[in-house]
Amino acid sequence: MTTTTDLPLLLLGQGADPASERGVDCPGDLPPASDPALVARARAAKEALGDSVFVLGHHYQRDEVIQFADVTGDSFKLARDAAARPQAPYIVFCGVHFMAESADILTGADQKVILPDLAAGCSMADMATFDQVEDCWDALADAGIADRVVPVTYMNSSADIKGFVGRHGGVVCTSSNAKRALDWAFAQGEQVLFLPDQHLGRNTAVLEMGLSLDDCVVYNPRRPSGGLTREQLQNAKMILWQGHCSVHGRFSKAAVDEVRERVPGVNVLVHPECRHEVVNAADLVGSTEYIIKALDAAEPGSSWAIGTELNLVKRLANAHPDKNVMFLDKAVCFCSTMNRIDLPHLVWALESLVRGEVPNQITVDAETAHYAKVALDQMLALP
Ligand code: SF4
Repeated sequence: MTTTTDLPLLLLGQGADPASERGVDCPGDLPPASDPALVARARAAKEALGDSVFVLGHHYQRDEVIQFADVTGDSFKLARDAAARPQAPYIVFCGVHFMAESADILTGADQKVILPDLAAGCSMADMATFDQVEDCWDALADAGIADRVVPVTYMNSSADIKGFVGRHGGVVCTSSNAKRALDWAFAQGEQVLFLPDQHLGRNTAVLEMGLSLDDCVVYNPRRPSGGLTREQLQNAKMILWQGHCSVHGRFSKAAVDEVRERVPGVNVLVHPECRHEVVNAADLVGSTEYIIKALDAAEPGSSWAIGTELNLVKRLANAHPDKNVMFLDKAVCFCSTMNRIDLPHLVWALESLVRGEVPNQITVDAETAHYAKVALDQMLALP
């Protein structure tokens, strides 16, 4: 393999190299591309690895990384794509930690899932820890409702939380099938504990299932009993975990009003992780896959203000030069943890594999994986 640059690839905690840490601050625009010479190194390493490596690229990844992805998609599609490639012993997941965990759960025992930078986490997934969720379940038991509550967790949660949900007869959902998951859950029990994204839970319950805002309460894991009275817990249909996405949660209703005034006839399309008032003010709401399809089907000359991650919006704007595609809110940033996966880290991971070393392998212990898979399989079996 040829080496075309001497740029050092420093890993987290091993010295300071601003050139390897691009995109973790937020100047309001996308971070600059890494050293272009690294493109040749990534290409050479990938070629040397051939079919033994399968690179997955989440929609929110940078262009410099996406160009090396064998498939792109949302987290669940990517985990399934990995499972459909049993002949690839190495899965390099260009996404964040919980996604790599899901890929490990769904792939074969002899496949190794690699996350190029272990610091690529998800702030939303981190907002629900296993201990906090166990404490919550105890609070529900104290209120006398644990046996009638069905836990539902968004894909964007740790394997621990998916395992907890599987152990307690619940289901995983994505932003595409949240309504079907809630329909199923309400057929199993009377109340739902929705983890960890309060916005997806609320938006689905109120806008798609006809529940009212009064049917929802927010459980704060930092307060005793979630900061809720026994009566509040007993009367709620939806007990929403107090978690949110630090990217989508920042879009504002004011930004929707502003773009409508500035761009006559604009279509406002947002992700359901946005706050309720933003989703209410938008014209359309849907998952990343929905957003991509909506833009594909849009009329030439139409205008679109998109409320989702900036890397994806920029890519959609480039892919549709005949449409006026813009980012909904200039005050919102890219996902800084997604952006931790940059070309230096990808090159390091690929070159390590070429040397026969397996870097940053993500493994989920067998018991957690078993119960997490129960909840994932329940999702796949949703009517
Ligand atoms: S965009 Fe939001 S939900 Fe997705 S990885 Fe980033 S913080 Fe997590």
